[in-house]
Amino acid sequence: MKYVLVTGGVVSGLGKGVTASSVGVVLKACGLRVTSIKIDPYLNRDAGTMSPFEHGEVFVLDDGGEVDLDLGNYERFLDVTLTKDNNITTGKIYQSVLEKERRGDYLGKTVQVVPHVTDAIKNWIESVSVIPVDGKEGPADVCVIELGGTVGDIESMPFIEALRQLLFSVGQDNFCLIHVSLIPVLGVVGEQKTKPTQHSVRELRALGLTPHLLACRSAQPLLETTKEKLSQFCHVPVGNILNIHDVPNIWHVPLLLRNQNAHNSILKQLNLSKATPPDLQEWTKRAEIFDSLTNSVRIAMVGKYVGLTDSYLSVVKALLHACIACSLKPSVDWIAASDLEDDSAVLTPEAHATAWKTLRNAACVLVPGGFGDRGVKGMILAAKYARENNVPYLGICLGMQISVIEFARSVLGMERANSEEFDTQTPDRVVMFMPEGSTTHMGSTMRLGSRRTLFQTPDCITAKLYHNSEYVDERHRHRYEVNPHMVGVLEEGGLKFVGKDESGQRMEILELPSHPFYVGVQFHPEFKSRPGRPSALFLGFILAAIGQLEAYLSQHQNGS
Ligand code: GLN
Repeated sequence: MKYVLVTGGVVSGLGKGVTASSVGVVLKACGLRVTSIKIDPYLNRDAGTMSPFEHGEVFVLDDGGEVDLDLGNYERFLDVTLTKDNNITTGKIYQSVLEKERRGDYLGKTVQVVPHVTDAIKNWIESVSVIPVDGKEGPADVCVIELGGTVGDIESMPFIEALRQLLFSVGQDNFCLIHVSLIPVLGVVGEQKTKPTQHSVRELRALGLTPHLLACRSAQPLLETTKEKLSQFCHVPVGNILNIHDVPNIWHVPLLLRNQNAHNSILKQLNLSKATPPDLQEWTKRAEIFDSLTNSVRIAMVGKYVGLTDSYLSVVKALLHACIACSLKPSVDWIAASDLEDDSAVLTPEAHATAWKTLRNAACVLVPGGFGDRGVKGMILAAKYARENNVPYLGICLGMQISVIEFARSVLGMERANSEEFDTQTPDRVVMFMPEGSTTHMGSTMRLGSRRTLFQTPDCITAKLYHNSEYVDERHRHRYEVNPHMVGVLEEGGLKFVGKDESGQRMEILELPSHPFYVGVQFHPEFKSRPGRPSALFLGFILAAIGQLEAYLSQHQNGS
């Protein structure tokens, strides 16, 4: 196994994840098989309990892993399917070490960070890197490891030490270290400053790791003199100093790396001769198409975490993939669901008016997943608006549950219809707690990962969008579901459950046949959307927004 380690210096939020996945794309374009590992030095066992407000979206994998959103970038960029073990956290490492300690595996020894924790990290990396993630057999050629955080953080020390040991055991020929850093420009003088990078490289070297390449983030392209200075002070050849300056969209980053011959430097360091020259035709085409799009479609995103757009990163990416397939630029209008509520008309009338104006100007409405009751009333109003005005609506997970509550209240007259999540006393429990495992424990009761949905009829929009297949496997992350005992009345009222799980008890997809596009899904189609291969549902949603869904469906009627 050949390892490419990507570390970060100076500040966080440099786009280390995008850089690391772009390195993967370039190596893949050279004919190599690539896998990846993300290390998050925080103490949480996984991202499942972390707030999207603070940390961005929780990405969900096929195997039910709740992981850092960077793994979403790897899956999308490299077109791979990762496992939960591809995300290493301090929590997971310590848990495994402590379990071993309790079992008595350490034979009466004092358990210490070095060697026990560092050994656990090394073993984890070595065993996960060989798991095939691209659908082929046998291990990949290269494993890109991204170390989260910034070099020098107390939390990342055991990982740095473990990686240093890994380098020592696999040898220089099998290890390439890329350090991502920032080159700021100070206003008055306008000079590109190398000192922060010098310091962070010095810090890395003091810990026993010397970077083979530098990836320097900057607003403008780096000057030759800046590169020379960096080379001299950081002990990295000029040819190995890469520059990632600001680009119009992130699909340019692999191209930027290729244009600077990053692949040659990496392949040389790794002593990999079997690689071919990089073929990035598709990427180039996609990046250029993206830049050239002029027409846009307005999408209202009515959610709870609208302050930080990373909270819905995969939804935004899935919208992008679908829009590009329709030669459109997505224009996402974020609406804080609570601003739509009646209370807000009194407390914050301006915000209320703006939110409603934005909603009315949008071509379609999306209510994404979420937890807790904040903004629920506003989401219900958005679903009602879309249903009554024939505006295309896509409800994902919570968004589907919202549409069921709204329908029960407005159409079936069940005024207090609700989800058990928001009102435990509701007389009309249309959405209820339906754990797959324990009914008494809250921990691990979430239904997570890939599950099968069977279409109940070929005669519905979603089955047609999924190319008339009989089933679809999508990823889930929820605790509550449509109450199976209420399905009869809801269907009599006109809401149709066109997708169910294999037991027939769990409602997976709903449609409103009297509406041009009113679709709710209990799963999260956004997690499997890929550049160039948009999620069928997102594509249908965007086509409906621009009035082209029918034409598309009749053209693709034979599953072509
Ligand atoms: N809170 C809802 C549930 O637990 C929806 C979850 C979601 O949207 N991911 O079922």
